[in-house]
Amino acid sequence: MTDLAELDRRELEETLADLGAPRFHGRQIYRWIYKRGVTDPSAMTDLSQKLRATLAEHTTVSTPTVARKQVSEDGTTKFLLKLADGQLIESVYIPDTPAQTFCISTQVGCAMKCAFCLTGTMGLIRNLTAGEIAGQVRVLAHETGLADKIFNIVLMGMGEPLHNYDPVMKAIRMLADKDGLDLHPRRVTLSTVGVVPGMMKLAEEELMPSLAISLHATTEEQRDRLVPINRKYDIKELIDACRKMPMRRRGKIMFEYVMLAGENDSIDDAKRLVKLLRGLKAKVNLLPLNEAPGIPFKRPSDDAVNAFAKVLVAGDVRVTVRKSRGRDIRAACGQLATDK
Ligand code: SAH
Repeated sequence: MTDLAELDRRELEETLADLGAPRFHGRQIYRWIYKRGVTDPSAMTDLSQKLRATLAEHTTVSTPTVARKQVSEDGTTKFLLKLADGQLIESVYIPDTPAQTFCISTQVGCAMKCAFCLTGTMGLIRNLTAGEIAGQVRVLAHETGLADKIFNIVLMGMGEPLHNYDPVMKAIRMLADKDGLDLHPRRVTLSTVGVVPGMMKLAEEELMPSLAISLHATTEEQRDRLVPINRKYDIKELIDACRKMPMRRRGKIMFEYVMLAGENDSIDDAKRLVKLLRGLKAKVNLLPLNEAPGIPFKRPSDDAVNAFAKVLVAGDVRVTVRKSRGRDIRAACGQLATDK
């Protein structure tokens, strides 16, 4: 059985050729699977009976199933999805920001162990395949009725995307297909903890997603503690890598900065952040901590967040504060974990 969910367009066409069918049917099949959410070949009514039978016999389309769906007071919807081997992941639909956004996972669990993140407490269970990453988008697009509409995706769910490089990039390619969901890579934001070799590879890609960097600290000592991968790729190396990223004309790198009371939320921290980003096309997204049981930090007061933001503005750094969405159902940043 060939799993069509794992194939990009070219591979699908090769598979068709191997099955003795013309390649151009790849386009129709992509439309069925991605645009219409149909995975049963017998329902693909513009294919010949013979091809439908061949597909039924030799192929399958693995699709995550919805094990649970929770809707937050603010409309944010968290999906618990079950994969073919029974592993569970979470994906989140965040409506009206003003865009429609899907927050997608790239791994089951995560190896990075950032000190304030719940997913990190699970450890890495396994990587997701390209088909599982794109499959989440297929499922959410159809569940929300947005398959024909414009939406964004953020690779900010469970996992570190650059720790699962090839499947992530393949999924981005599959989702970009014009006969599929036609998701322009510009509408995809890849968020990384700063895996520098992955960033350098990304710099060479033809289809480049937008980039977000989880910075969270302004001194090496502080980042070593909060984001352990800093011991391997430190702030200096990370910022150098950011300077080397090819940028779109009006593009900016987003720097995410989780705010932890009494830890990295002082005025001095803010001043150091301004200095660190000098000369970069940067915008900062402040993420006041979403507290969770077992996470040994506190969320700073709104006043502290505002005072911090003011220093950035005064330093000519663009800044936004991320509104926590779906906190009541633990769907907000850093709150995704499936073993609890
Ligand atoms: N591994 C990638 C993708 C996760 S993105 C990365 O680290 O960038 C999720 C974002 O939420 C990251 O910036 C992460 O650091 C942040 N985050 C993690 N735990 C959080 C929490 N408890 N509160 C707020 N933000 C958190």
